[in-house]
Amino acid sequence: MRFDIPTLLVAVALANVFCAGARFLLWRMHPAIPGLGRWALAGGAGALALFLILFYGIKHWSPLLSLAQLIVVIGLFLAWDGFRRFIGRPPLSSLSLVVLAVIVLAWIATAQLQDSLLVRALGNSILVATLSGLIARDLLTAPKPIPLAMRATGWVYALNAMVFLIRTVGADQGAPPVGPLNPDGFAAFMLLWWLCMTIAVTLGMVLMAAERLQADLDSQANRDPLTGALNRRAFSLIAENAVAQSRRYDRPLSVLMMDLDNFKQINDRLGHNAGDALLCRFVATAGQVLRDEDVFCRFGGEEFVALLLNTPAEQARVAAERLRTSFVIESAATEAADDTQPITVSIGIAELGQDEDIESLLHRADTALYQAKDKGRNCCILTEDARKNSNKTDVKQKAS
Ligand code: GH3
Ligand code: MG
Ligand code: MG
Repeated sequence: MRFDIPTLLVAVALANVFCAGARFLLWRMHPAIPGLGRWALAGGAGALALFLILFYGIKHWSPLLSLAQLIVVIGLFLAWDGFRRFIGRPPLSSLSLVVLAVIVLAWIATAQLQDSLLVRALGNSILVATLSGLIARDLLTAPKPIPLAMRATGWVYALNAMVFLIRTVGADQGAPPVGPLNPDGFAAFMLLWWLCMTIAVTLGMVLMAAERLQADLDSQANRDPLTGALNRRAFSLIAENAVAQSRRYDRPLSVLMMDLDNFKQINDRLGHNAGDALLCRFVATAGQVLRDEDVFCRFGGEEFVALLLNTPAEQARVAAERLRTSFVIESAATEAADDTQPITVSIGIAELGQDEDIESLLHRADTALYQAKDKGRNCCILTEDARKNSNKTDVKQKAS
């Protein structure tokens, strides 16, 4: 099968125009998501480059081809910058763009002077392979867990880097002609590949933005905006499930109920902002001390709760004690620190009893927390024999 190159070129150029349009719409719809503007400009650059190649096919004026090459490289650079912004990495500097443009121009000038399509193709392939490889690296090494669409887009760019690497080697061997419009060479394959890349990357961008919006929505629904800890709603859902699992597999489960001590005084003395910073510091400390699988939540105000999976009461007490002492050290490093009075937390601990539900477990942990406050604060109290207590309740309930 032989493709008609000009027809193919028109089709790919039109597909690029529509994909660029889709990226501009994406940008207009979600201007607050970083990087989308760069993706749109990159899409526009791709479409423009294809029309320049189309005109080159009509006029056979080689500067048009040089300009198309320059625009392709700038487009890839813009896409790369967009991906970095999207991931939250520092944007690329204008200096790096200038350096890249100088390299491309030097290469193009060499090709133009030697009147060599081979030199031109080699330079183009190496640059596209390098930039695609760099984009793939950024996407595939984003902070974990890497969302699915981001990973897929990363692999699409990795594949693009591979294709252009093979093209570089192939072009260097000099066997098939490398002209962008020569039907005897790579032209048809490369144009079809360009079409596939444009569609795959644009879809990848749309899906990445959708994933980001979904993650934002999940976060708004499940997380406390100040500290980023899970909110009560999310905690209830997770806790119900954890209790059911714990019962089914007869695994221990413990709860820590925590309340920062004399927090009102701290607010009054230092202001609400310092109080907020302290709440964030406590959440960060808990993140360091507790295990990843533990479920930590801001229960309200300066009260927090943690669900320690597969953890009996005694181990929970050790974890609570570690959290309490760590917070004393951490809070001493904040602006709220006061030499005369350390900033502390009181913790009540309870282990899930047989047939006990989450409300009862939280209630017992809360009672232990009150005891900790009564005892003078800055301490951890474990409820009296958790399992035995709840068994007693059961027996009473059954008897009545
Ligand atoms: P105790 O040791 O008995 O727990 O005393 P306390 O002062 O910590 O407890 P109290 O319930 O009297 O006061 C809680 C304070 O927490 C009052 C409230 O203004 C403050 N607070 C609740 N939510 C926030 C918040 O989001 N930011 C700040 N800065 N303060 C908050
Ligand atoms: Mg308090
Ligand atoms: Mg309180």
